[in-house]
Amino acid sequence: MRALIIDCYTDEPAGLGVPPYIDVYPRYVAGAIWEAAPGAEVRYVTVDFVRANFERVMEYAAGCDLVVFVGGVVVPGKYLGGEPIKLEELTRWPALMEKPVKVLGGPLARFGYGVAGGRVAVHPREFEKHFDLVARGDVEVAVYELVKEGLRVEAVDPSVVREGYELVDRFAVKGARIVEQHPNLGWNLVAEIETFRGCPRWVVGGCSFCIEPRYGRVVFREPEAVAREVEALYAFGVRSFRLGRQPDILAYMARGVNEVEFPEPNPEALRRLFRGVRAAAPGLEVLHIDNVNPGTIAHHEERAREALKVIVEYHTPGDVAALGIESADPRVVKLNNLKAGPEESLKAIRVVNEVGARRGWNGMPELLPGINFVLGLLGETRETYELNFQFLKRVLEEGLLARRVNIRQVLALPGTRMWSVGGSIAREHAKYFRAFKRRVRREFDKPMLARIVPRGTVLRGLYVEAHEGKYSLARQPGSYPLLVYVPERLSVRTKLDVVVVQHGYRSVKGIPHPLDVNTASRESLSLVPGMPKSAVARILLKRPFSSLKEVEKVVGPEAAKYLAVGATRAAPPPSS
Ligand code: SF4
Repeated sequence: MRALIIDCYTDEPAGLGVPPYIDVYPRYVAGAIWEAAPGAEVRYVTVDFVRANFERVMEYAAGCDLVVFVGGVVVPGKYLGGEPIKLEELTRWPALMEKPVKVLGGPLARFGYGVAGGRVAVHPREFEKHFDLVARGDVEVAVYELVKEGLRVEAVDPSVVREGYELVDRFAVKGARIVEQHPNLGWNLVAEIETFRGCPRWVVGGCSFCIEPRYGRVVFREPEAVAREVEALYAFGVRSFRLGRQPDILAYMARGVNEVEFPEPNPEALRRLFRGVRAAAPGLEVLHIDNVNPGTIAHHEERAREALKVIVEYHTPGDVAALGIESADPRVVKLNNLKAGPEESLKAIRVVNEVGARRGWNGMPELLPGINFVLGLLGETRETYELNFQFLKRVLEEGLLARRVNIRQVLALPGTRMWSVGGSIAREHAKYFRAFKRRVRREFDKPMLARIVPRGTVLRGLYVEAHEGKYSLARQPGSYPLLVYVPERLSVRTKLDVVVVQHGYRSVKGIPHPLDVNTASRESLSLVPGMPKSAVARILLKRPFSSLKEVEKVVGPEAAKYLAVGATRAAPPPSS
C-alpha cells in the first residue's frame, strides 16, 4: 500500500495549516492509513513542493494506490509561508494521476473553494468529477474506512463523520510521524492541536456566517489524549504548538456546555490541559492559543480572568487571544446573532489586557487580544464602518493593547444563513470596506504597533522565512507573529534576535541584536538607536574592528549597547 498526501493548506476560523503551521488533517489522515494498514508507505508533500517538483511528484503519484488532497482556505488571505492550492490546480492535477484512488478532504470537500472574501465559495459538488471520493464529513474517518475496505470507494459513505475522539486520538498519535516529512521541521514548524469541536452557541443557532454550529453538540478531547499527541509530535522534533483548533479556548470543558449559550470557563480543566502539554513537551519553544469568544469573558468575567491567568502561567509570550468581535454595530450584532455587543467586546479586551499585557521574555507582551471584524453581514450600512472605527478609537484612547485587527469580507458558505445572501452586501459596500481598511492601517495599526513594541524593544527567537529586495523577513513562530523586515541578507532558517527600530502599518523594521559591526549593512548601522549620523561613515571606513572598546570610541556608549564584534546569534529561551 502506497499513499501520498498532498497538503493543499487550510485556513479556517478554528485552525491553520499554512507553513509554518501543520494542521490536523494531514496528520490524522496519515494516522488513519497507518492504523488500517500498518505497513503502508505514506509520503507527505506540500502544494508548494508539488509546484516546484511537478514531474517528480506526478510520477510518484502515478505509482501510488491512494492520493489524498487535504486543504481549504475558508478565510482567504495572503501568506508568507506558502500559497494554497489554486482552483485550476485542484481540478487539473487529479486528472494527471490515473491509477490511484483520489480523495479530497478538509474544508475544500466540506464547504467548497473560497474564491475571495465577499465571493461565494465554489460548491464541493463541483469537485466530484475530479475525485473518486469527496469526503464531505471527516476525511480521516473516510480514509480509514477506505483503506480497511481495500480501496473500494463504493463501500465508503462520503459524509461519514467521527462520533467522538476515540478514533482520532489513535490517528493523532500514529500520524504524528508525518511531520518528519514537513519542510519546516527543525526550525519554525508549529503543530495545530485540537481540543474540542463545535461551538457552544449552537444552542442558539450561532452566528449567521459560521459553519461551526453545524457540528451540533460540543465534544471535548480529554487532556490526556492531547498530551499523548503532543508527546508524539515532540518526539519527532516539533517544538512549537498552538492549541488553536476550537472556537473558544475558554469554553474547554466549560460548565453548562450544550445547555447554555455562554458556558462558564473551567480554569481547573484548562490547567490540566496546559500542564499535560508542558509535561509532554518539556523543552517546547512555543505554546499558544487562538480563538476566544468575547461573550464568554463578558458573561463570566471572574472565571474568565482566572482561566486566562492559567493560560499565561503555562504558555509562552507573544500569544494572541483572537476575539471574534465581527461588528461594533448593535444592529448587525442582533441581525446576525453575533456573540457580543460592542460594550461586551470592549470589556473582554480590557480583561485580556489586564491579565496579559505585561512583556514576556521574548520581547512580546504575554497575551494580547486580537480583533476580528467581518464585513458584508446582514443589516450592514455605511454607518457600520464608522461604528467599527469608533470602537477601535476607544481601544486606543483607553490605552489598551490589541495585537492585530483582522478585517475580512464575509465568505458565504453552504449551510450558513449567509449562503442565501451571498456576497451581495459585501460587493455593494466594497468601497467602504477598502476605505475602512486603509483608515485602520493608518490611524490604528501604526500607533498600536508602536505601543506594543516601542523602538528599542528586543524581540527574541525569530526565524528568517523569506526575502523581499534587500530585506530578510523574519518572525517568531506562534499565533499571529509580528513580521520584521531586517535590512540584511540572511539565509532562510537563520534564527536571530532583533531590536525594533521603525514601525510600519502591519510590520516593523528591526536590526539583528546585537549587530555585528564588521558585517552590518549601511542601513542597519544607520538605524541603531542612538547612533550619531556621522558615525556610520566612519565605521564603514574603519572596519574591521577587533574589539567593542574600539567601536565605542566611534559611536558612543548608547549605540554601542546594540553592537558586537563578530558573529551573533539568538539567545536561548529561558528553561521553563
Ligand atoms: S461564536 Fe459564532 S463565529 Fe464563533 S464559533 Fe460560534 S457560531 Fe462561529
